[in-house]
Amino acid sequence: MQSFTLVDLACSWKDAARYLSQRWLAMLNPYLDLSQSSILSARLRFRSEDTILANFLTYAEPIKVHGALPGGFLGRFGNKGESGPLLRLVRSWCEYELTDLQDYPIVQLLLDSTIALVQPLSQFYRLEIKPTADCEICGEVHLHQQAPLRVHGAAGDEAGLHGYNWRNGDSIAATNNYEVIISEDLYRLFEETEARTPLKFIPVEAYGGKQPLWQMQPQGRLPLQSPPTPLKVRDRCQACKRPLTVALSTSPNDIAFGPERETIYEQEALLTLETTDLPEGDFWVTDLQQGRIREQMAVLQSFADAPDPFYVRLSQPFWLISQRWLRLLHEHAPHGWSCQPVKGLTQ
Ligand SMILES: [Zn+2]
Repeated sequence: MQSFTLVDLACSWKDAARYLSQRWLAMLNPYLDLSQSSILSARLRFRSEDTILANFLTYAEPIKVHGALPGGFLGRFGNKGESGPLLRLVRSWCEYELTDLQDYPIVQLLLDSTIALVQPLSQFYRLEIKPTADCEICGEVHLHQQAPLRVHGAAGDEAGLHGYNWRNGDSIAATNNYEVIISEDLYRLFEETEARTPLKFIPVEAYGGKQPLWQMQPQGRLPLQSPPTPLKVRDRCQACKRPLTVALSTSPNDIAFGPERETIYEQEALLTLETTDLPEGDFWVTDLQQGRIREQMAVLQSFADAPDPFYVRLSQPFWLISQRWLRLLHEHAPHGWSCQPVKGLTQ
């Protein structure tokens, strides 16, 4: 198991020179993640046990940024910026080896890439809007899958608005509506394992792909305990106060923007199951989701004719898999996924 810490600065790396000494700039340069940095922020990536990290946090914690310079990029567009702490987000998480995960009967599956479904999405989904029973202001949207999914396959690596194309050599990925799809190779390997409750797969049509793909059907919805699963309400309905947006976070506050901005410290957030009995099967989703779980009715009604999950279904279930699936992925899917422990189950 290895632990990493990301530090997001509230300014670009170029502007960081205004706040950090030359010595620190030189020392931090090897930790800069250019692909995740922009004109608004710089991202540094450390091994959590690196002593430079602890020293840097101590040094940088009191430093405040002063907003955009009049002659700077943002200043030229009349953006005065906000002042606040230089450290915007300090986030730690672990990367687990198989040996770290083997004592957990169920683990959480995290997928690296999102594959775009072929438009329009109304060919796959029926949209159903459920107003909140005692509130006229908000409601929920449910998408029911009506037909096998279709994705763009192997036509270059370009990322569209809704995700990537499936590439040759991919083993497992999510769709932009949070279904899990796997390669023909993984599908065959899984079909060979002797599962007491066999997983059900739906064929996925891949344009331009030589081999078929398969959608994994969840074998049930497992209830999460909340708390201690750290799901935080970020946004509530004005009328009924029910949550609209939730996020998985250990941060006691999430004031990342605005005049009251504070540094956010976040540890890895692990899920805890409510059940203590090991369910049968290999793949489940959770009952609680993160993201936009409820929406204003005024917004929902305008989606009724255009069920595009990119706008509608922003909430994401958590994917849970068995040890059997974990081992199969470990042996046959070299990249595109990772797993983390799920607490609460006793074997
Ligand atoms: Zn409401």
